Amino acid sequence: MSRSSAKPHEIRRMWEGGPLRQFSADRVGSWTPLDTGGYGGQYICDTCKNPVSGIYEAVDGNGWQCSDCKGVAAKAAPKVKKPIPAGHRKERKRAKRVCQSRGKVS
Ligand SMILES: [Zn+2]
Repeated sequence: MSRSSAKPHEIRRMWEGGPLRQFSADRVGSWTPLDTGGYGGQYICDTCKNPVSGIYEAVDGNGWQCSDCKGVAAKAAPKVKKPIPAGHRKERKRAKRVCQSRGKVS
């Protein structure tokens, strides 16, 4: 009888075209029980291959990315800038200064 010691968890693609996720057939502390059996841990970013807490569909629709990688991709992608509407000035209200004259009290 041999025991495999501290085996690194598997990484599975959750569904066809879906994100990668840490997977374990055995229960792991905070992991989520999956409908398909076993337990799911953190998602794996397709770009940086790091386990991440949140995964998003890639900007180009090709794979799944963490917020950092998605942010980088979004910055690289050309974006249409919206012009700021003109004529929207804030009027400053001037507080009136009240001059106080001190009366001498004897
Ligand atoms: Zn990433």
